[in-house]
Amino acid sequence: MNIIFLGAPGVGKGTYTSRVKEKYGIPHISTGDIFRENIKNNTSLGKEAKSYMDAGKLVPDEVTINMVKERFKQPDAKKGYILDGFPRTIPQAEALSSFSKVDVVINFVAKDSTIIQRLSGRRICRKCQAIFHVKNIPPKVEGICDKCGGEIYQREDDKPEAIKHRLKVYSDQTSPLIDYYKKKNLLHVIDANSNEVESIIKNLVVILDKFNKKSA
Ligand code: AMP
Repeated sequence: MNIIFLGAPGVGKGTYTSRVKEKYGIPHISTGDIFRENIKNNTSLGKEAKSYMDAGKLVPDEVTINMVKERFKQPDAKKGYILDGFPRTIPQAEALSSFSKVDVVINFVAKDSTIIQRLSGRRICRKCQAIFHVKNIPPKVEGICDKCGGEIYQREDDKPEAIKHRLKVYSDQTSPLIDYYKKKNLLHVIDANSNEVESIIKNLVVILDKFNKKSA
């Protein structure tokens, strides 16, 4: 099953993916995570992406598309995928359609105030990328990841100036994808305003189960 998760930064796509990927036995492909991994390892791709990311801007399409194509060559992507953070522009969506057939697109929606609250409180584990939130999902011990003991930090682009910019980039460049996938009859909408992750997951699973049966 080939799935795209759409929605503004901070709507919870990473959290929802980590909850359903095992159920469907498919990998989570997050372009943001791949860029951050490259930055951590100081690769040439990481060096190129860093200045865009820190400013909350999009990495150029060509760089991003080539990176996703490479990721799709790995064996686990043959089973399907949850794409989180890709595509983010119409040219990326068109490129994707040339090398993979998407089964379903989920658009997670939440109010701006909810999104800003989630992004500004979000904290990430440096080691395993687990996602926490100072109020909604606090770690048991402050600053330490519950899952692997790694250090928890705030992403540079989760600071107020970059958040503003990312939300504008989303509305200018990524929200046109909603219409793009609606016209292809692939789009399903999920209300992600609630901080009750369980109820969002329940609604998500109802939709994904239908497609899972079809693609089985
Ligand atoms: P994310 O973790 O998905 O919020 O992505 C963090 C940052 O990585 C974004 O603000 C962009 O700078 C970059 N990025 C991630 N995915 C893409 C993409 N599909 N196209 C361009 N830039 C991206």
